[in-house]
Amino acid sequence: MSRRLAGKTILITGASSGIGRSCALEFARTAPQDLRLVLTARREDRLKELAQQIRDEVGEGVKVLPVALDVSDPEQVKGFVERLPEEWRGVDVLVNNAGLVRGVARAPEIAEEDINVMFNTNVTGLIHMTQAILPIFKARPNGGAGDIINIGSIAGREPYAGGSIYCATKAAVRAFTDALRKELIDTRIRVMEIDPGQVETEFSIVRYYGDKAKADAVYAGVDPLTPDDIAEVVVFVAGRPQNVVVADTLIFPSHQA
Ligand code: NDP
Repeated sequence: MSRRLAGKTILITGASSGIGRSCALEFARTAPQDLRLVLTARREDRLKELAQQIRDEVGEGVKVLPVALDVSDPEQVKGFVERLPEEWRGVDVLVNNAGLVRGVARAPEIAEEDINVMFNTNVTGLIHMTQAILPIFKARPNGGAGDIINIGSIAGREPYAGGSIYCATKAAVRAFTDALRKELIDTRIRVMEIDPGQVETEFSIVRYYGDKAKADAVYAGVDPLTPDDIAEVVVFVAGRPQNVVVADTLIFPSHQA
């Protein structure tokens, strides 16, 4: 697999923590030679620390570029790839991972700001990132080539009370992903989705507006997935031969079955 990933440029959104961070490490460990990683998120300090960790662990075979990017800001996303230094523009794989849940509330009580933040990040941000990458992919021969790996959620398939907006955003990701795959059927651009169940990350801290005690209680007494469990699947699907599309993957801890 490392042979297939060698020489690739991978762009990951939401690489400053959780699943995105694990994806960066997993790509680097799997293909430690001749790989480029563009790591993006809003917290640039975290990205710089991660870049250093990767250099320390696998050496200079993997080149890492940490870049601050808020996917919910259309002005930052538009032309993002064109603004990268030239040797970083040939992105081969986009991992659309940035996302969040904010609040637990029944529909009548959901704060307007939370609705906007979730949709602007999870849906519109992901769509804008896809639009930013497609010209790069389509410029390649035979209709284009490249991989888009969208991180959805089990919540997009099995909505739950108190999470209607988050569930709706992930259902939207699912619909967008499926439609885009069909639009690109005549190309070598693969559009894939991975839907995690419960993963222990900073996700629940964000859900409870920074209340770590409440977040910790979510994982008490259960055995959630680790971000590495998801990262291994992301790197696996990216490493399949070009004609193999692992279109749709659902992965959850056994207690969630
Ligand atoms: P984390 O909170 O640990 O990571 C979320 C990442 O998204 C962070 O790196 C954060 O970086 C980034 N992010 C959030 N908002 C923005 C923004 N506007 N622009 C750019 N980056 C942003 O959570 P997870 O790792 O768990 O979440 C990753 C993905 O997995 C999300 O799409 C989530 O919906 C999905 N998921 C998570 C599950 C779970 O149980 N944990 C289950 C199913 C799906 P920063 O704050 O620095 O910008």
